Amino acid sequence: MLKSRICFTSLDLEHFGDKPGMGSLDGILAIFRQYNIPATLFVTGKILKENADLIRDLAKDYEISCHSYSHRFWNKLSEEERNSDLDQFIILYQSIFGKRPIGFRSPSHIIDEAALKALEEKGFLYDSSVVPRYPFLKKYRGYKGKAPVFPYRPSYNNYRKAGEMSILEIPAAGQLFGIPLAGAWIAKLPFLTYKFMFQISKPRFISLSIHSWDPLNNLDKILGLLKGSGYQFLNGEQIFKNYK
Ligand SMILES: [Zn+2]
Repeated sequence: MLKSRICFTSLDLEHFGDKPGMGSLDGILAIFRQYNIPATLFVTGKILKENADLIRDLAKDYEISCHSYSHRFWNKLSEEERNSDLDQFIILYQSIFGKRPIGFRSPSHIIDEAALKALEEKGFLYDSSVVPRYPFLKKYRGYKGKAPVFPYRPSYNNYRKAGEMSILEIPAAGQLFGIPLAGAWIAKLPFLTYKFMFQISKPRFISLSIHSWDPLNNLDKILGLLKGSGYQFLNGEQIFKNYK
């Protein structure tokens, strides 16, 4: 297993509604640099195509992974459409980086067994779509029920249980009470809430994920809190390589 207190840090880059694609990217990366964080950037094919030079440059310091080509929700796509979306991304990625992508995160965290199987067949080594906990009484389209809060290999019969798949799931595991360590939550909840939660419990694995268009409120302080609490920041590839 992984050593204790790992924080998987990731940033999703996408066009979403009227949100600006690259948004607060510079500000977020400046904060990552300050803490020397080797984050994973989940980029859509559209973003990658429009910003190929910039992202090729970012790949020197960060892992670049797949956030689908089009950012359409996977529950709205047929198997054929999913496959062609992935193929389109892989071809583009290969033309820029000369290798295949190994990590995937689905738009809005919508995933299922068939999607994970398709990812395996296309050579992806890890997925980071599963939301394993969510606050009581609050709904989120990507949350379909409890799942392991540590990296695991999903079952072909139920992706929310450990099983025999070869792809590794790195879940978007939240803090206590399922409160996500993610974009809007980080920006809106008072910093003291997180500080309090980390005083009660320091889970050995957590996932911090933000969007390029998220406001930067609290991000700096939360990363400082994680570092001060003994967390090691790793990207998806590093977690995959450390997983046994
Ligand atoms: Zn997204």
